[in-house]
Amino acid sequence: MNSLLSVVVSVYNEEAVLDSFYREASRVLQGISWDYELLFVNDGSRDGSMRILDRLAEQDDHVRVVSFSRNFGHEAAMIAGVDHSRGDGIICMDADLQHPPECIPAIVERFEEGFQVISMVRTKNESAGLIKNLTSSAFYSLINTLSDVHFENNASDFFAITRKVAEVLKINYRERVRFLRGYVQNVGFKRTTIEYEARPRAAGESKYSLRKLFQFSVNTIVCFSNLPLKLGIYAGLAAGLMGVIVLVYTLFTRGGAPSGYATIVVLLCFMFAVLFLIVGIIGEYISILFTELKDRPIYIVEETRNMEDAE
Ligand code: UDP
Ligand code: MG
Repeated sequence: MNSLLSVVVSVYNEEAVLDSFYREASRVLQGISWDYELLFVNDGSRDGSMRILDRLAEQDDHVRVVSFSRNFGHEAAMIAGVDHSRGDGIICMDADLQHPPECIPAIVERFEEGFQVISMVRTKNESAGLIKNLTSSAFYSLINTLSDVHFENNASDFFAITRKVAEVLKINYRERVRFLRGYVQNVGFKRTTIEYEARPRAAGESKYSLRKLFQFSVNTIVCFSNLPLKLGIYAGLAAGLMGVIVLVYTLFTRGGAPSGYATIVVLLCFMFAVLFLIVGIIGEYISILFTELKDRPIYIVEETRNMEDAE
């Protein structure tokens, strides 16, 4: 029997590109030797995306759809796709054609060579703009300094895993606050990377604002590193050391050090700033702990298409 390839596509308000994505992806998928399924995860789209998916599912048995009850976010959509996929190999990609379907044959080739995890690394992202590219590389160097876990620079949400890895993700890694590409890079297994040129978005708008990306970065750091929690210890040590120096200085000058209102105010403000910053960092950890503790579902499926056997 032929191997089966699952292509997982997260969809949030993508009516402008869905048809061309489907056309391009199908053309490439028909050319490979594996059977395939195109698994769309509708992440609570409010536009006509679901109507288009309905039509595609009707026309083409390769198309399967999982539709959420509301928007749960890209990460939840990807894990739902992995959960519901049946393939021996699974590829996660975006609907906006930024991840070129032409890369699929190369991925299948790597699967056949026995690789279990294939990270797609982008060489160019013209559409993202300077700010996004700069913040992205700053983020990767920060997280790599803070965390023991190594993150591939410029790794994207474009990756491929085998059934074996998918089972690990399905059973473990069920965190609410998630960073799938981080887990994918850290489950081990035989890994490889393929470079690809990110294309500009085919149509429609990016769903990630800079604010969302910032929150995402904070969450990732909190999830993959405990180092910020220890900041308080270092700040305390530094403040203590400063105190000792000032004390010694005061003793030696017999209290004759120049007294200054400004000095005191500046010092006070500085110390409080450090204090509150650390309280804020602890707050971030507590908020994530709280979210995990509540154990709410990562996503809620409202309806499906061509999915008789699932659920
Ligand atoms: N997406 C999603 N849920 C969301 C936001 C985005 O499923 O809440 C999907 C979106 O439809 C697209 C992919 O995630 O297929 C990447 O989103 P986008 O292209 O907007 O991000 P960018 O490429 O600009 O980082
Ligand atoms: Mg995109």
